[in-house]
Amino acid sequence: MTAIAVLGSTNMDLVAYVARAPERGETVTGTEFRTIPGGKGANQAIAAARAGGDVLMIGAVGDDAYGVRLRAELEHAGVETDLLHTAEGPSGTAHIVVDDTGGNAIVVIPGANGTVHTLGPGEMAAIAEADLLLLQLELPLSAVVEGARMAHAQGVRTILTPSPVQPLPDELFGNVDLLIPNEHEAAALSGKTEPHAAAEILLRHVPEVVITLGSKGCLYAARGSETVHFPAPEVTAVDTTGAGDTFVGALAVALGEGRAVPEALAWASIAAALCVQKPGASTSMPYRSEIDAA
Ligand code: AMP
Repeated sequence: MTAIAVLGSTNMDLVAYVARAPERGETVTGTEFRTIPGGKGANQAIAAARAGGDVLMIGAVGDDAYGVRLRAELEHAGVETDLLHTAEGPSGTAHIVVDDTGGNAIVVIPGANGTVHTLGPGEMAAIAEADLLLLQLELPLSAVVEGARMAHAQGVRTILTPSPVQPLPDELFGNVDLLIPNEHEAAALSGKTEPHAAAEILLRHVPEVVITLGSKGCLYAARGSETVHFPAPEVTAVDTTGAGDTFVGALAVALGEGRAVPEALAWASIAAALCVQKPGASTSMPYRSEIDAA
């Protein structure tokens, strides 16, 4: 089994469904409210565990009821949570307003995620023992940089999803083996809107890049080899939430098993295509048997 460490966020998504989002100063009556466990770190951890990885989550939840539920959700998916600390104060929350067009507006309050500034000996040892480390940008940058540095020094393959996108310091770029931005993030990081051009710029900083392109699939670029486009399976998407995290989780498992990049990307694309055909984020992430069958 591929040993995957995820250093990342856990958030409770508090989702209000409304016909039309309120203007400033306005109050509207919505139709439904849901609490949905999320956070990019936790989502990638659950995706990787369902895809067959041996996954360990590093991060923090708050000492509130959301924290209890977030931890339980990860454990239910088979994710090891010994290094998911319980911090004093609230868990991370994402306050999401979804309107009738499917458009959304989101406020994220980091809560416990914001307490993860540095890594202890336990976290360092866990990263050193993993085959791969998955990183995103929903924890303080200091912890992300430290995790990447530790992994790189130990020869652990490091995969970064640069979300929410922000300028990346060289000390982070320099310790990332594979960068997986979406189209928007790739453009923000490279200054180029065309994905091939963006990939070319990003390869100056990291050896391998996968730019995900939604229903158009993904673009794989590596130093010294030709950039390849992988189309996504044609499916009817009902909810693309969590597709990117499913893609990354499944890709990590496949790469960790030593599969060649084209095969790993094809398998991750199938996993993500299964995810978009069901509503929800972690709830719609496929199990290994479903990915293999598809
Ligand atoms: P995104 O974060 O939107 O770029 O999506 C990540 C990955 O999910 C893509 O690279 C595709 O593999 C998959 N995906 C997203 N949207 C769709 C879709 N409508 N149909 C099929 N696959 C999709």
